[in-house]
Order: sequence, then structure tokens, then C-alpha cells
Amino acid sequence: MKKHNFYAGPSVLPEYTEDQVVKAIKDFNGTGISIMSISHRSKEFVAVMEETQLLFKELLNIPEGYHVLFLGGGASLQFAMVPMNLMNKKSAYLSTGSWAKKALKEAENFGEMIVVASSEDKNFTYIPKNYEIPSDVDYFHITTNNTIYGTEIKEDMDVGVPLVADMSSDIFSRTVDVSKYILIYGGAQKNLAPSGVTFVIVREDALGKVDRTIPTMLDYKTHIGKGSMFNTPPCLMIFATLQTLKWIRSLGGVEVMNKRNREKAGLLYNEIERNNLFKPTITNEQDRSIMNVCWVMNEDFNALENEFLEYATERGMLGIKGHRSAGGFRASSYNALPKESVEALIAVMQEFENKKA
Ligand SMILES: *Cc1c(COP(=O)(O)O)cnc(C)c1O
Repeated sequence: MKKHNFYAGPSVLPEYTEDQVVKAIKDFNGTGISIMSISHRSKEFVAVMEETQLLFKELLNIPEGYHVLFLGGGASLQFAMVPMNLMNKKSAYLSTGSWAKKALKEAENFGEMIVVASSEDKNFTYIPKNYEIPSDVDYFHITTNNTIYGTEIKEDMDVGVPLVADMSSDIFSRTVDVSKYILIYGGAQKNLAPSGVTFVIVREDALGKVDRTIPTMLDYKTHIGKGSMFNTPPCLMIFATLQTLKWIRSLGGVEVMNKRNREKAGLLYNEIERNNLFKPTITNEQDRSIMNVCWVMNEDFNALENEFLEYATERGMLGIKGHRSAGGFRASSYNALPKESVEALIAVMQEFENKKA
């Protein structure tokens, strides 16, 4: 039976990426050896690193003065590296979910951290609006897509202070005006590659402004100075990232990704609203994520939650159980998820409704 991959991360990747990685594991670019066992200093791998950085910049239209780094440690290490490198005295955070909370907790270790607004009062089911950011903060940190709760900030904000964003789960799903940010970071395992590599887009002139000593490996300047090759980078994952970027380019770039993602999410939200058994977790349309669509049973049908999960899983729908802190269901619809998978899920939702409602 055909499987449909709705996992939130690691998650579905283009078949093109899978095929190219399989080939390179056997014979990397005609070298006769595997991408897993060639030196990162070889001219063949150096070319992969340079091409990945270039294509990253091209597809996101990254202006001059920014660097693209590929590091280890996951987005979770960035929660600490960001304040360590950018916060001299004071920072501000928007608390929109579990990842945002983990990020702001790390900032507390480096100075005064101010939460300007939080949606925790309603279990993170909305994006706070109309808050004030103190003008003297070193930066303001946002999480653009809240993977667990299914909310998303879909536009680049004008905030009047340096802006930093965790874009782990929506990078390359839309155009981004990178010039509005001093730093953007994310784990690759949602829209780009298997887990094991973290991307960082950083504006060079935002660095060097803190008084503390930064350990060599945790200093962005170290990695900028060495073209992201200060130590052995996650070579295979960078190669996989490059394949996904090539796939995005071949389809027409991030605008096309955005159109496809909006269409898929729209189909799914429409069905959740139409279907008598279900209702969307996020009621305000403006705040709904196009990457992670969350829903719950309508009150009268709460008892059917596990049954639907089993029913759908048996029919090839993988990874639709909601995160334990949000409950219900979550279908992740990243760039590489085909529209047919969304249509297959909708068909299963309708079948189940016909049996029960
Ligand atoms: C998955 C995720 C993370 C955590 O990423 P790791 O690479 O596992 O550390 C952080 N932020 C967001 C928004 C995520 O979706």
C-alpha cells in the first residue's frame, strides 16, 4: 500500500533527494568512493559546500553582507548561540510555543530577557499581536512557524529593532525578505535534509558587539572565517540539502513552493471545517500554519479519536497523531509532500465520516 508521510520532522523529502543521496553513497560524482568517506577538504566536497551556500543565497535572494553556515547541534544549540553572540545586555522574545520557550530560556543565561507577549494562556493557539518591543534590546526573537501547535507568522515583520528568527519548519516555504533579519536559523530535518545539519543565515556586521568571551566552536565568526569548514561539517547532510535546493529550483523556486503549500493546506483546512467529525485547532485563519495543519474531534465525537487514528494509519497515513502537548491530529505538509497525499488523507476523512456521522 502507498504510504503518505505526514511526520513533523524528520519528514518527507523529495524523491530526487533520496535518489541522488543513494547514488552518492555508492559513488560520489564519479570519484569511485562514497560521499560518506571522502575528505571534506577534497575539491569535490569543497565544491558541494560552495554550491550549497550559493544556491541557498540565490533561492532566498539573500543580500550582500550575509553568510550561510551549516553547523551541528540542531536548532536547539542555536537557542544558546544566538544570545551568546548577539545579546550584550538585553533581548526580547515572542512566546508562541514550546520551541520559542526553549529559546527564551537559554537567553536568560546571558542577560535580561523580556517576553513581550505570549499565547500560552490559550495553549498557543494564536499569534499575539499589538505588543510593544523595548527600543533598547539587542534583538527581538520570533519563531515563524510553531511546528507543534500549527500557528505561523507568514509575513516578515517591521519591528524597529534587530530581528532574529527560528525558521526550522518553514524555511523555503515562502519568500523571505532576509534584509529584515540579522539572523535566521533552523534544523534541516523539516524542509531540507535528514537531521544532522543546522543552517544559519547571519549578517556579518551584527557580530562582534558583545563583551563576553565566546568559545571558538560557538562563535559564528569562527565558522564565517573558515567557510563553514572550521571542523568537519555534516558532509552527507549538506549534500542532501544541495539536492533538495536543486529540486526547489527545478520547480521554479520558493514562490512556487508557497503556491503549492497554500493549496495543500487550503484543501485540508476546508475538509476539516466541512467534516462533521472534526474542527481546526487554530480558529483564526490568519494565524494558521501552512506547514503543520492541526485539528481535533468535534465535541460529540471525542470518543472516536483513537479509532480515527488507527483507521487512517491502516490506510497508509503515517505520522498524523498530534504532539502530546496539543492533542488531536497534525498533518505536516512540507514542500516535498505531494498534493496526492493530502487528497488521500481527505478521502480517508470522508470515508470515516460516512461510516460514523
Ligand atoms: C524541530 C524544531 C526545533 C528543534 O530542532 P532540533 O534540530 O531538533 O534542535 C526548533 N524549532 C522549531 C520551530 C522546530 O520545529
